[in-house]
Amino acid sequence: MKSWYSNTAPKLETKSSKSLIHSFIVKEHEGLTINPYQGCQHRCGYCYATYEWSPDFYDKIYAKSNAPEILERQLKSSKFKCMKPVMISSATDPYQPAEIRYGLTRRCIQVLQKYKASYYVFTKSTNILRDLDLHKRYRDNCFLVWSITTCDEKIRRLIEPGTPPADAIFSVIRKFVDAGVCCAVNIDPILPLITDSEVHLDEILDACSDNGVGYVFGAVLRLRADIWERMKTVLISLDIREGIPQYQKTIFQFLEPIRSGVNIGSSKSYENRILGKLRDRVKSKNIIPDFPAFLWNTPAMPDQNANTINQGNQITLMKYV
Ligand code: SF4
Repeated sequence: MKSWYSNTAPKLETKSSKSLIHSFIVKEHEGLTINPYQGCQHRCGYCYATYEWSPDFYDKIYAKSNAPEILERQLKSSKFKCMKPVMISSATDPYQPAEIRYGLTRRCIQVLQKYKASYYVFTKSTNILRDLDLHKRYRDNCFLVWSITTCDEKIRRLIEPGTPPADAIFSVIRKFVDAGVCCAVNIDPILPLITDSEVHLDEILDACSDNGVGYVFGAVLRLRADIWERMKTVLISLDIREGIPQYQKTIFQFLEPIRSGVNIGSSKSYENRILGKLRDRVKSKNIIPDFPAFLWNTPAMPDQNANTINQGNQITLMKYV
């Protein structure tokens, strides 16, 4: 198989960053995000964060060693007077193995809590269990999301070899649910012809239901030139050879080569069918098919010395799906 990552363990390096918290806009939604690391050891073939500026994305992980200090400096500045919830992270997994060595995500979260910022974490990792107490004491203002694409171990090992198995993730989710933390599963991306069957999605939804997950949402894969090259490798490795023309002609409807920088979504009919079914199945299990909305009132850990940036505003967690 033509692999998208090297056969050796990724190299870890540190670097300094000038800025950590950034705003972003996805469709009509605005938000803030921090990325304490660059690169990701989870090595997912469908990853959207693998831009050309980071050719070693899967093999060289940079830890932004001054991330907590930079974050605090930015939060103290007047720029972020009215703060939206902070996404941790948009372009890397904040609890990938490097976090065990560097602890930057933990320290950044401590800074966010000090400044009474709400946050939501996107991860595929079980390492987040180390921070159970940290998130638990801030449970009124944080939201944890695990991205799970499959319960099928053969497929997982191929498409995202650095992630833990789904059953290990669900046992961690259970602990957060029992601690009263707001937890979600993001089935993203749903891979056409690979993980989009009802059986496949139901397996994830059953585990969500069994483990008390309150929110489930998902999205269909989007293609870009580099993602398409990796997906062809996956389809061939799984012996779904007819998948290549089906992706080209029916599901994504594109001509090769895909131009650099172009993103291609699946056809509306495919997307509506899959996401409609997912939404119906989620609701049938009494799970909410969306992000939660909750009030920002009294922070769980008020710090009287902190520079209050939210000033008691009501904040609704941003939709990012
Ligand atoms: S966990 Fe996220 S950032 Fe990391 S490789 Fe997978 S998709 Fe990319």
